[in-house]
Amino acid sequence: MRFETLAVHAGGAPDAETGALAPPIHLSTTFEHAPDGHLPHGLIYQRYDNPTQQRLEAALAALDGARRSLFFATGMAAAATLLQALPAGSRVLFQRDLYHGVRALAQHEFPRWGLSADFVDATDPDAVRTALRPDTACVWVESPSNPLLQIVDIATIAELAHAHGARLVVDGTFATPALQQPLALGADVVLHSATKYLGGHSDVMGGVLNFAAADDLAARAWDIRKLHGGSANPFAAWLVLRGLRSLPARMAMHCAHARRVADFLAAHPQVETVHYPGLATHPGHAVAARQMRDFGGMLSLQVRGGREAALAVAGRLRLFHNATSLGGCESLVEHRASVEGPQPVSPQNLLRLSIGLEHADDLIADLAQALGG
Ligand code: PLP
Repeated sequence: MRFETLAVHAGGAPDAETGALAPPIHLSTTFEHAPDGHLPHGLIYQRYDNPTQQRLEAALAALDGARRSLFFATGMAAAATLLQALPAGSRVLFQRDLYHGVRALAQHEFPRWGLSADFVDATDPDAVRTALRPDTACVWVESPSNPLLQIVDIATIAELAHAHGARLVVDGTFATPALQQPLALGADVVLHSATKYLGGHSDVMGGVLNFAAADDLAARAWDIRKLHGGSANPFAAWLVLRGLRSLPARMAMHCAHARRVADFLAAHPQVETVHYPGLATHPGHAVAARQMRDFGGMLSLQVRGGREAALAVAGRLRLFHNATSLGGCESLVEHRASVEGPQPVSPQNLLRLSIGLEHADDLIADLAQALGG
């Protein structure tokens, strides 16, 4: 079945009790035991599992070609759970350009958790090979990465990790399963912040771990979700399931608009650099063209004139809301260095754009007036 068809139908069987096509939301926190104590439906308590979430997880597994899918309250809950599910004493090799929340976990929480972290430019397979240490249990990359839109050759890094006995985790939030299938390329786990494109409307938080195998790591992650309580509420699962139905259509439009905006920005004299893998000049373009169906709706630009010039451009935009997050219908602009805490790593003149579903001509006109020149 083709992806568009799966997105509409996965986890979409009519409700067995009523025939309803829109799935019911089961809000019950608790489920009845049989007189002999067994669980007739395999369900006991909402924090462990619930029917709405199970429907969503079936759909998510189908879309990523996963054997096991786990849904969480947020993308960070998914990330923290996976890291805590690694064997005690593990070393994790992270891509250097990394969502700043995950970097903060590595820097501030790892010592308490007994884990250690290294950072590498994962766009360079030789650098990854050199950075793998005897106790590296996991390689963790984002492709495209946040916020520099770097592209990692997933199949090559999976081979390197596996030859070393390590697992490969790919944060596929920017690409979504509509554009990229990391498990088919050899990754062991895909992480998504469902808060972004999967939900798609800036009104729900969620996180996803999709596992290539229903193995001990997946089982430990299930236990940690249950015991640490990173479970989502059923309404969040329902909203994300609804979002999946239109994911391919929205992604096609996000990609088409982002490509036009990237072309416009690349030719603008006030713009120093555009980071968009769809541009032929992007260093990861060839790999992206090979491993992605399209190049996504996210891009970053570096504005001539430094931090103040970048902030002024963001302040002059009218259609783009100046706000964090991404993947909704509305376009967003964000000065990343301002939200990265006391030690920002993003260039001070960098603005990240989440290209929404408005008409591309309107977005370009807004950028043109804000950039001036
Ligand atoms: N991964 C990436 C690439 C992200 O951009 C984000 C959030 O912005 C996360 C993970 C964390 O997701 P959440 O905000 O849903 O916890």
